[in-house]
Amino acid sequence: MTETQRTALRDKIQAERTRLAADIATLEEVTRPGDEDCEDEITRMNSLVNKSVNEAALASARARLAALEYAQKRIEEPEFGFCIDCGEQIPMPRLLAMPEASRCIDCAS
Ligand SMILES: [Zn+2]
Repeated sequence: MTETQRTALRDKIQAERTRLAADIATLEEVTRPGDEDCEDEITRMNSLVNKSVNEAALASARARLAALEYAQKRIEEPEFGFCIDCGEQIPMPRLLAMPEASRCIDCAS
């Protein structure tokens, strides 16, 4: 991996982290327990369904953020960008789309 590619990935990770942090803040806001008692039954059921969808989205956003933070540490190591299973270099387009990827497409599937 060239230094230019590494810089592009660092920028990408930072941008994704900023976006995820904003998503997480929004999701935390909408999943906060509200005063559901004063709502009618249907509204309450809908808000419970939405809440579970949002909680799932929140959990996956948090997991991705943790993976990106880990990638941000690993990017400084020489083995970053190589598949942990077969040792082949992970193609740049895949890393740019998913900087936290630790396996090539073949090994990940
Ligand atoms: Zn592989």
